[in-house]
Amino acid sequence: MKVFKFGGASVNSVERIRNLLPILQTYNGQHILVVISAMGKNTNALEKVAEAFFRKNKEESIQLFEIVKKSHLDTARALLKSCLSATEERLRDFFTEVEWLLQDQPKRDFDYYYDQIVCVGELLSTAIVSAYLNENGLKNEWVDVRDIFRTDDNFRDANIDWKWTGKKTESDIIPLFQISPMVLTQGFIGSTDENESTTLGREGSDYSAAVFANLLNAESQTIWKDVQGVMNADPKEFPDAKFISELSYDEVIEMAFYGAQVIHPKTIKPLENKGIPLYVKCFMDPALPGTVIHAKNVNHLPPIIVIKQNQALIHLHSKDFSFVGEKPTGELYHLFSEIKVKPNLMQSGAVTLHVCMDDKPDKIDKLAHDATSIFDVQVEKGLTLLTIRHYDEATLKSLTKDKNIVLKQQSPETVQVLMK
Ligand code: ASP
Ligand code: MG
Repeated sequence: MKVFKFGGASVNSVERIRNLLPILQTYNGQHILVVISAMGKNTNALEKVAEAFFRKNKEESIQLFEIVKKSHLDTARALLKSCLSATEERLRDFFTEVEWLLQDQPKRDFDYYYDQIVCVGELLSTAIVSAYLNENGLKNEWVDVRDIFRTDDNFRDANIDWKWTGKKTESDIIPLFQISPMVLTQGFIGSTDENESTTLGREGSDYSAAVFANLLNAESQTIWKDVQGVMNADPKEFPDAKFISELSYDEVIEMAFYGAQVIHPKTIKPLENKGIPLYVKCFMDPALPGTVIHAKNVNHLPPIIVIKQNQALIHLHSKDFSFVGEKPTGELYHLFSEIKVKPNLMQSGAVTLHVCMDDKPDKIDKLAHDATSIFDVQVEKGLTLLTIRHYDEATLKSLTKDKNIVLKQQSPETVQVLMK
């Protein structure tokens, strides 16, 4: 059994969807569970629908949703023949789920509505892709993963109930492989025990695939992307970024922690627990070997560069010039968890703490406001956080030259520089 995950970019046009056929034909006859994301930027488009609805802009939300509907109907019509009318009917059922909701007035909190609306992106894309593959000789069973992935009701960042999900995978997914070698389903979404849809956090499909890989004891998981594999820097910012052929699970967790947008951070643990290798391969050139991520330690990695823009630095000074002890520090951490913010970098001195985090204005404002009961607070914005794992002096120098360094932290393996 293999688990594949295709992201939004791999299904963002009729051509790209057609391109899945030869890739999957290579594996024809093998048992494969395929997880597919919403097409292209549809998750973003659906977020806009949810926001308009929550602002009580009913007309706007309906209009924005019409655009989503039309693009899916157009895609289905371009791809499908014999399965077209059955698929259109299925798409319309999902449209109706959302449209009913849009007729209402918001009564619950935003995150709840977000999940009810945004989840259709993956349902629509998988319905179309499944039909297209079936029509073209790749028999597959389509599954609404909300019947399998049980979660709590922590909307937008729901937590999977592993026990229930494991049982459902065994009773409902495994038998499907007797009917077809391929099962095709959604990532990113699930549902509560009250049948409310939930989502697992943006880019969560990698994680969904890993949950399936774990529960199905898969021999491997493959994430199909538009790049050759994992690179040592974002190739959009660094045209000479280097391809990395092999990484350890731990290294990938470190990279994700520092903000590298390679793989959803929750993906590794379910794979690591069962020693399942993760491949990152290119859907535009499947013959390329891609990157393998596994338990083996990998030495001699190139410097791995992660850049986070839009950082805020909060300076917290002790009010009475006494040392910053464990009590105010403890209270500060309490605030972090209350406001749900995570420092990207922290440095403490005798009477001052410096905390760098993503500049989400409402959260930074709240933190700065609430922290004034303990500290004198100053906030500095518009900063960039550079992290280099396995750094060398030449790389560090070239990436920080002409920059005003505000804060720096260094360990034998990792250097972080906050700069202007
Ligand atoms: N469609 C979701 C997103 O864009 C989930 C995913 O693609 O992983 O965040
Ligand atoms: Mg994606």
